[in-house]
Amino acid sequence: MPHDEAQAIQELLSSYAGLFGFFEAEGEELVIVGGAVRDLVAAAALPAKLDVDFATSALPEKTIDILKKRKLRFFTTGIRFGTISTIHAASGRMLELTTYRPDESYTVGSRKPEVTFGTSLEADLIRRDLSINAMALRSDGTIVDLFGGREAIAARKLEVPGGGLERTRIILRDDPLRILRIARFAARLDYRATEETTTAATECAPWLQTISHERWKAELDKLLVAPHPAAGLRWLQETGALREVLPEALPLLESDGFDRWCEALQQLPTEPHHLRWSWLLLSAAIAGGAVADATSWPDAAVRQQTVALLADRLKWSNEERLVVSELIALPFGPAQLEGLSELELRRWVARTEPRVIDQCALLTALAQMSGTTAAMDPFFARVEALSGDATPVPALPAGFGKVLMTALGLQPGPAVGQAVDAVKQAIIDGRLPNRGSAEDYLAWLRNRADTDA
Ligand code: ATP
Ligand code: MG
Repeated sequence: MPHDEAQAIQELLSSYAGLFGFFEAEGEELVIVGGAVRDLVAAAALPAKLDVDFATSALPEKTIDILKKRKLRFFTTGIRFGTISTIHAASGRMLELTTYRPDESYTVGSRKPEVTFGTSLEADLIRRDLSINAMALRSDGTIVDLFGGREAIAARKLEVPGGGLERTRIILRDDPLRILRIARFAARLDYRATEETTTAATECAPWLQTISHERWKAELDKLLVAPHPAAGLRWLQETGALREVLPEALPLLESDGFDRWCEALQQLPTEPHHLRWSWLLLSAAIAGGAVADATSWPDAAVRQQTVALLADRLKWSNEERLVVSELIALPFGPAQLEGLSELELRRWVARTEPRVIDQCALLTALAQMSGTTAAMDPFFARVEALSGDATPVPALPAGFGKVLMTALGLQPGPAVGQAVDAVKQAIIDGRLPNRGSAEDYLAWLRNRADTDA
């Protein structure tokens, strides 16, 4: 279906008609800015979870007054940056309303002590990172495009509003995160940075060290799940920014297999996004070894070190660290699958759940990289056969520990844990049925004690 921009605009505006009306009634301008306008003009399918950003001439206090007057809930967490959030009744999504900010990029050199507010939409737009992101949509349906946003979209190019080498240097130096954002949009849209943008980014890349690593992480997370990660990663390599933020990926980019690596990356599910990080780190760790053959990989402890280094640098949460560490502990590669005994398989499933599916995704990526996909289907069939009721993940009757203490006359202590563990291991190894009765398990334990005696 051809993209009907006018209709898409009307649809977008109609769901915010009330909000526009509230601001206009108070003599304030309110416009939609940023990604939503870009995606509309680019005829990109608007994401289901569309994140709509607003800019307004109203100062934050006035925005609060307007929302209060209409009995709308608001949140002031971003007020330092001029952002007041509210909830969009129709979608339940959080909306951000940010007061116009003036273009301060010519005052760089010292960090700005605080955010200042302006009243000009034009100044607010020119301070934005890219011309494609510097358009605004007014409530009457007109698109304000002062810096060639449309043209940049048509030419599929990434450049700062206003362009020009000198100005690009200033914009990127002012907030070096913009370098990572450019890479992120290259990865998302498959657009190319202009030559001036690349030159300025190359000069400014070392300045990435001056900004918080949490900000790096937010952009890199998005880059890795974007549809064209190779475009973003290659540009980061070209500008030297990759060396600053993600040196782990350098050997991958420098290797012959990079395109295949990217293809495998793109096949991986985007949720959880740790899966893509795991793929990157696992591949980086085994680079130089035989991709399919786990016996040539560095051992798990060495792989964990690469996780720890990256996790520290990117300030990962404990949960992210844990998940990625568990995923890259993958004990075998495609070359080992055929020879896996039933016992090894059961033990792996029991140890790895609930991440069996994610480790299977990593195995598939390794098989794609190494051209050994034939091994995968039979392996999946075996894993599938160990799911549902046939799972080797032990599920003991509720309160089994207590029942066991009473029945065997045990006091709380290590002996109880050992008995429970013995039952679990027997279930994992297929020597006892899973989800059996407490009586059956007790009988097995008694019998074992008799045999041991
Ligand atoms: P997405 O669709 O991924 O949300 P987006 O373009 O909306 O993309 P956001 O991070 O939500 O990206 O930012 C909203 C807008 O704010 C951008 O389009 C851009 O105009 C502006 N912006 C965000 N970060 C910066 C920055 N570091 N420097 C300049 N402008 C920025
Ligand atoms: Mg956005």
